Amino acid sequence: MLNEGVGSWPYRRVRLEAEKTAIAFREERWTYVRLDDRVTRLAHALRGLGVGRGDRVALLSANHPAYLEALFASGLLGAVFVPLNARLTVPEVAFCLEDSGASVLIHSAETAEVAVAAAERAGTRQRVVVGGASDAGAPDYEAVIAGADTARIDERVTHDDPCFIMYTSGTTGRPKGVVLTHGNIVFAVLNPVIDLDLAGDEVALVCAPLFHTAALDFVSLPTLLKGGTVRIEEGFDAERVLDVIEREGVTYMFGVPTMYDALSAHPDWESTDLSSLRRVVVAAAPVPRRTLRAYADRGIRMCQGYGLTETGPGALILTPGNVERKLGTAGVPHFFTDVRVVDSAGGPAGVGERGEIQISGPNVMKEYWRRPEATAEAFADGRWFRSGDVGVADEDGFVAVVDRTKDMIISGGENIYPAEVESVLLDLPGIAGCAVFGVPDEKWGEVGRAAVTFVDGVSLSEEDMAGFLRERLAKYKIPKSFVVLDEIPRNASGKIRKNELRDKYAD
Ligand code: ATP
Repeated sequence: MLNEGVGSWPYRRVRLEAEKTAIAFREERWTYVRLDDRVTRLAHALRGLGVGRGDRVALLSANHPAYLEALFASGLLGAVFVPLNARLTVPEVAFCLEDSGASVLIHSAETAEVAVAAAERAGTRQRVVVGGASDAGAPDYEAVIAGADTARIDERVTHDDPCFIMYTSGTTGRPKGVVLTHGNIVFAVLNPVIDLDLAGDEVALVCAPLFHTAALDFVSLPTLLKGGTVRIEEGFDAERVLDVIEREGVTYMFGVPTMYDALSAHPDWESTDLSSLRRVVVAAAPVPRRTLRAYADRGIRMCQGYGLTETGPGALILTPGNVERKLGTAGVPHFFTDVRVVDSAGGPAGVGERGEIQISGPNVMKEYWRRPEATAEAFADGRWFRSGDVGVADEDGFVAVVDRTKDMIISGGENIYPAEVESVLLDLPGIAGCAVFGVPDEKWGEVGRAAVTFVDGVSLSEEDMAGFLRERLAKYKIPKSFVVLDEIPRNASGKIRKNELRDKYAD
């Protein structure tokens, strides 16, 4: 085949084991033959909408098999898949569509209101609607697939070609598109296959959002590469997830600490048969000891992972054999990946010393989309991706993630960048100054709080401020509480003293 990329995987699997179940969703099952057929048809349909090599295809939806179908179909054409966070508002989606220059937006009926308005703002020409009956303005996804050609497509796609762009906000200003090439994805996917020893009979549960790398590159694609089954849940619901684990015999799952806590706190936890679970990975946020203990008590050795969208995401992994010995650390670098801890002078941090975690390897992103300066800044010595996270390595090379230097809040596994929230809040007339910071929260790990100062003579209510933000930012980014101050504390060089705010207003 000419196609070396991820788009060829369904076909490559069909050659091996056509009738195995690739995807389970609601009451439906996709064999590998069915997946391959639908992906081929979707690729023809996208081509009919003018999509060709290098063009961008965006998707806005809750979890749905369309994520995998659109990723593979784009890959068949050499086009670039752009999954968008389904919780974003119109201005946020419009920004991503415009920045990526997407020519097609596939979206669900549920996100239609946001999708239609954002596509119009961004000038995105084509839309396709999943479950589209309610939206007359664009063709229905199923009808488009049913009516398309089935001839095999074999475009030349190499490991250097971009596979998808995923947006992350940043510590400075606007969101940036992380470009992962087909080569990046191949290695990002091989890492968990090797290190978690994934097998061909895996039943993987996807209950984390498919618009983040982990659910795609760490769970779905590794499972499909091996010929296993990906069980897709539209969202996370503790009762349903426990039921699915038992009923479907889930062997592999990934989640953020908030999800695992919700499962172990659920009344059905004790009575659910969890014996099928072989690989349980927790990552994306600091992992509380109580979470690890609750699972250990049920005989489940939870593997902690660590990574970022930019690293596809896996960088560190605590492999199953080391869980007991090194509990609480995020383990060692993945097989194809290198990690170093660097002190403030730029040299290697010694054993037990804090330093920045930096990552290098074929899974690390090629670049930020059309942001050469941001890309250059992101790498030390042109090769080591600077995570902005603080780690400590022990004498065996196991790294614990202990802190962050970047200004970021992690709330239930979703990242909130204060810089983004602050810049929107400063647009509200009457706000003179503001600083957004994280405060500890039992359920979400952290939640955002905003300190604000008003222009002389102005007083705004919490609802005035939250309401303004709600129209412009996804709900999870909106501070859960506000404190009104006379002055925002700053250091001599004018930088806001967030540590002081965090200490003073933690509760
Ligand atoms: P995904 O791409 O699925 O969201 P992710 O959360 O790992 O995975 P990002 O959204 O880019 O990727 O967030 C990366 C940040 O998450 C890291 O820089 C780090 O601050 C935090 N993080 C990830 N794993 C851990 C961990 N095990 N412990 C502490 N922090 C973590």
